[in-house]
Amino acid sequence: MLSYQHAYHAGNFADVHKHLTLYAVMDYLLRKEKAITYIDTHAGRGLYPLATKETQRLQEYREGIWPLWQAREQLDDALLGSWLSAIAEVQPDNHALTHYPGSPWWLSRPLRKHDRLHLFELHPGEHQHLSAQALPAQAKRVYGDGLAGLGAMLPVATPRLCVLIDPSFERKAEYQEVADTVIHTLEKARHGVVLIWYPLLSAGHHQVLLDALKGSGIRKIWRSELLLRAPGEQTHGMYGSGMLVINPPWGLDERLAAAMAEITPRLGKESRHEAQWWVEE
Ligand code: SAM
Repeated sequence: MLSYQHAYHAGNFADVHKHLTLYAVMDYLLRKEKAITYIDTHAGRGLYPLATKETQRLQEYREGIWPLWQAREQLDDALLGSWLSAIAEVQPDNHALTHYPGSPWWLSRPLRKHDRLHLFELHPGEHQHLSAQALPAQAKRVYGDGLAGLGAMLPVATPRLCVLIDPSFERKAEYQEVADTVIHTLEKARHGVVLIWYPLLSAGHHQVLLDALKGSGIRKIWRSELLLRAPGEQTHGMYGSGMLVINPPWGLDERLAAAMAEITPRLGKESRHEAQWWVEE
């Protein structure tokens, strides 16, 4: 039984971290003409009006997209500036931040005619929301398990593959399941670019995922973590957001570091970004 609904968290600091990283990766991938299959294993709704009851309950966007949107005229970083301009496209009045776009929107926005996109969502209600979104014809919405769905699609028909794995981690076993799926994916698509999001919780469950990938023999795993507060300071909730990018485009680290240097001071005194290879080439 799935209970997680991303609307309660839409636009929070983890979304900023995840979607900015995805945006930067896609910016590199789109520089070459060869077709790409994108797979979003855990798609969510696609678009989140901030005024809904769910999003208003926790208002997590106030520690995420909100301060960045307010500061957008004063920001210097080009990547961050163009990412915020993209967010303006989903605002009915593009001066006011009233909506936050999810991964299906970020993935489908720059789709070219020869690219493919598969969006998996297992929660019936969330899938229904996603089905109601206006997306390009190449975007296929699948009501089903994203990890199994990804495995069944490999190898893909296009020369390039980009996967986003963004589970809700409602079950501890998901960390190992994600690792197993990633290992299988890289066996079938050695050059595939795979982005994996994970929460930083004081219980440290994400270490299972990190260790399994390190022990798998997969090379070129880059790790980026955006911390909102010091670890261990609170027992509930996330203190940070983690991303692994396997086969990252060259130059991604420097570009994201520059953007994060403008982001972290706006997320609070304790916020910081750390990035390094988890497994080198
Ligand atoms: N990727 C989305 C974004 O960035 O906007 C947010 C996704 S949210 C963190 C996780 C989503 O995965 C939820 O909508 C949940 O219903 C869905 N989900 C949970 N288990 C799943 C599974 N095994 N396969 C596909 N979707 C699943």
